[in-house]
Amino acid sequence: MDRLNDKRIVAGVTVVAVMVGAAAMFFLNKRNRTSLTSRSTLQPAYEQAIAQIKQKFEVPTDYIQRIKEGMESEFKLGLSKPTGEKPSSIKMLPSFIDRIPTGHETGISYALDIGGSNLRTMKLELDGHGKVKTILIRKSSISHELQTGDADALFDFIAASIGDVVDETAESNNFGFTFSFPVDQTDVSSGKLIKWTKGFQTKNVEGQDVVELLNNALERSGIRAKVTVLINDTVGTLISSAYDPSDGETVAGVILGTGTNASYIESKANIEKLETGEKEGVMVINTEWGNFDSPAYSVLEPTEFDLTIDKNSPNFSCQHFEKMVSGMYLGEIVRLALVDFAEAGFFSHRNSSYILTPYRFGTEFMSEIERDDTMQLIHVDAFLKRIDINNTSYQERKLLKELCHAVALRSARLVSGAIAAIVDRMGKKDTKSVVAIDGALFEHYPGYAGHIEQGLKEIGYNNVVLKLIKEGSGYGAAIAANVMSSTE
Ligand code: ADP
Ligand code: MG
Repeated sequence: MDRLNDKRIVAGVTVVAVMVGAAAMFFLNKRNRTSLTSRSTLQPAYEQAIAQIKQKFEVPTDYIQRIKEGMESEFKLGLSKPTGEKPSSIKMLPSFIDRIPTGHETGISYALDIGGSNLRTMKLELDGHGKVKTILIRKSSISHELQTGDADALFDFIAASIGDVVDETAESNNFGFTFSFPVDQTDVSSGKLIKWTKGFQTKNVEGQDVVELLNNALERSGIRAKVTVLINDTVGTLISSAYDPSDGETVAGVILGTGTNASYIESKANIEKLETGEKEGVMVINTEWGNFDSPAYSVLEPTEFDLTIDKNSPNFSCQHFEKMVSGMYLGEIVRLALVDFAEAGFFSHRNSSYILTPYRFGTEFMSEIERDDTMQLIHVDAFLKRIDINNTSYQERKLLKELCHAVALRSARLVSGAIAAIVDRMGKKDTKSVVAIDGALFEHYPGYAGHIEQGLKEIGYNNVVLKLIKEGSGYGAAIAANVMSSTE
């Protein structure tokens, strides 16, 4: 805790220094607004503030290295038999997926994907050359009534949407089910819901096997289909990428969206905690890396804004890595910093609801802001007007853009350390390997992928290919159902 207190003191001193420097600038800035066409020069107080932002969110190469080493030792601990001593912050859940597709698999396969309130069912065809063709896709949303009602009603609804896509005359209708809620899995086709998240409260589901509930509902409705594989979105992303080996061998599946998580391929011999005697071959491990360095921070270096987010969150002292990395939080970090800058006189829009309301400033706003390369940041100006922040000065816009850049850059560099940990764990540092990534943060944030690559290079990882995977959570489930049901 001493380190944290020190940090807080340093942060406090910084804020005071910034405030003193800023008081005069505030009035100057108000009187002296640059027009959108005039030449852009940065006032010294803003230059100083931007330098402090950069410093606060900086991730030097040795910090990336420490993330890599810290993650690796937690991976090891998470795979070992629990000793009753300090448990790993990373769960390392066995997925029971122990066959990796080659791209040669063929046939019709089905997927059910429940990521939140949206549900998708798909009929897909694997072409045997690494490509998946969508034959049918149905999307529906799970109503508030179903989210708060009884299990049977919810699972009957899901069964009906499966009924919409299956071929009743086919010999077997095997479904892969991607269920993005925390489940306790004991084999590939069953898993108990630990706890509902994302607003769901459907009764009599927690503690139950969701696959069994669904297969029972299918039977009740006389629908000839069966869920044979249960996975999460990271595993789906990995499997989906592995099916198309044209870019190289896939070693991991990463999610960088609302949250962050990763899965990778581990040798069974290394999964000490696995109770089965089998030690040959491999198995996909769902790391749950978002919880890295929790409950206490010992590797991550949180700012005062990160500590505020953690303190005010419903899951205090959990998911520390996720809270510094993923889409749900980056915008909130920027908002908290803006509140501080407003108090110090650097940002004169403190009454905007986007600045006042927690989580109202989304990570997608940061993307918009960073995309502007004009001299006077005119697109930032136009964008801010759309969210009711009018009459910003160039100084304010530049400060905001640099803040967004620093927060996103930190996120990507932390991720580079985590990816290196997986690559190293698999002994693939010197071989070309594909890391499959899904999620809006990775897909849409300008420069984000490049920042991860740069971080990897700095610590000597030059052979990692970052590959964007879309639809991985659906396709991956269907491919996994095909691979796991084959009798070879
Ligand atoms: P999920 O992770 O829930 O499956 P997504 O992959 O779509 O869904 O990620 C949604 C998250 O990504 C949101 O938290 C949002 O803030 C962030 N996000 C959405 N659009 C963008 C964007 N254009 N740039 C950066 N982040 C974005
Ligand atoms: Mg997703």
